Amino acid sequence: MFDAEAKAGAPRRFATFERLESRVRSYSRSFPAVFDRAAGAWLYDSEGRAYLDFLSGCSTLNYGHNHPALKQRLMDYVMRDGVAHSLDMHTRAKAEFLEAFESAILRPRGLNYRAQFTGPTGANAVEAALKLARKVTGRQNVIAFTNGFHGVTLGALAATGNGHHRGAAGLPAQGVTRAAFDGYYGPDVDTAAQLDLLLSDPSGGIDPPAAIVLETVQGEGGLNVASAAWLQAIEQVARKHGALLIVDDIQAGCGRAGGFFSFEGMGVSPDIVTLAKSLSGLGLPMALTLIKPELDAWAPGEHNGTFRGNCHAFVTAKAAIDTFWRDESFAEGVARKGEALRVALEAIAERNPDVVAGVKGRGMMRGLDVGSGEIAAGIVRAAFERGLVIETSGAHDHIVKVLAPLTIADADLERGLQILAAAVARVGRADLDSAA
Ligand code: PLP
Repeated sequence: MFDAEAKAGAPRRFATFERLESRVRSYSRSFPAVFDRAAGAWLYDSEGRAYLDFLSGCSTLNYGHNHPALKQRLMDYVMRDGVAHSLDMHTRAKAEFLEAFESAILRPRGLNYRAQFTGPTGANAVEAALKLARKVTGRQNVIAFTNGFHGVTLGALAATGNGHHRGAAGLPAQGVTRAAFDGYYGPDVDTAAQLDLLLSDPSGGIDPPAAIVLETVQGEGGLNVASAAWLQAIEQVARKHGALLIVDDIQAGCGRAGGFFSFEGMGVSPDIVTLAKSLSGLGLPMALTLIKPELDAWAPGEHNGTFRGNCHAFVTAKAAIDTFWRDESFAEGVARKGEALRVALEAIAERNPDVVAGVKGRGMMRGLDVGSGEIAAGIVRAAFERGLVIETSGAHDHIVKVLAPLTIADADLERGLQILAAAVARVGRADLDSAA
């Protein structure tokens, strides 16, 4: 991440934030603007400048900003004085979401989960998943992977690999053993077999795990994609060693990596699945921990939270299901755009071999490996100057990550990719200029 805000010498329009908001703010440093309105794939700042949004709230706005169908349902609900907040009491809004989730998401995929509404952040859904796995198995240890990102509250942070975030914990991160993700040591090393070997060895030094937690495509960790074979092998390791399999689908789910769940078609059956980000569809806070019914060992209120009944989010989440997931057409469109994205990124890589080391990702969750955080920051800066909001990920912030809305018009996707191509070429030229 580069600090354009500081570089710009904090112009007057940022003075309020400089004076009153904590230094912890981060995205604002990459995108020095004051945003005001947004529609579809477009953001507008308070001076009326338009930006294409290839960040989408880090995959929270998979259906774009302020989708009219979702917005209308919310407005109707608010205008008829629908319950806004309900702790975890029964509400019509919650019942209608659950029924839609069952009929359009779970049943067609042959899945059977109980829904636990947690506090409305992804990290809280992960906290609940880890707690439940520990409770069910009576074990403390959890296996998490290199470059995994699961949130920054203490329990979830222990599973997160990122040193920058771990460094802020103020306490040792506990109860997690790190294992190598698929491909971490290169394509020839079977990291699932390694994990099995360690767990099978009574002197391997790893306490029996309650769970193995993973992302099928690591979002913050740099768009590392797990193969179906690896996921199946990891599931077998979990079964063999009495651990639950938790898929954290907070970033890769809700259509981003392909189907509604990123593990669809991978031949695995996770015991627990976490969802948040795009679940509400409109960017409203909402998180969900899905639990195989036989593992629902919670006592009432054991994992608590005031905002587990965000009815506005239930309403828009149901509207998102009704609008996009009642048939195959939306997922087919996402697959087509994902392919177009891959082709376009590969063309950029081919034209700029001095800058781009490779193309990574799956579905509409793809990006460019540019080898260094500095180069990636230069591309983000050059893109923003040309009206494109795009961010980086990976251990060294060296992956330029395209998270365009899944609903983006083909012409806007093309336009954004042209800006990205121009930004990459600009950085390449700057490199040549400075070498000369
Ligand atoms: N898990 C994954 C895979 C994520 O990508 C994120 C956030 O980026 C989280 C968990 C944490 O979600 P939140 O920021 O809503 O706490």
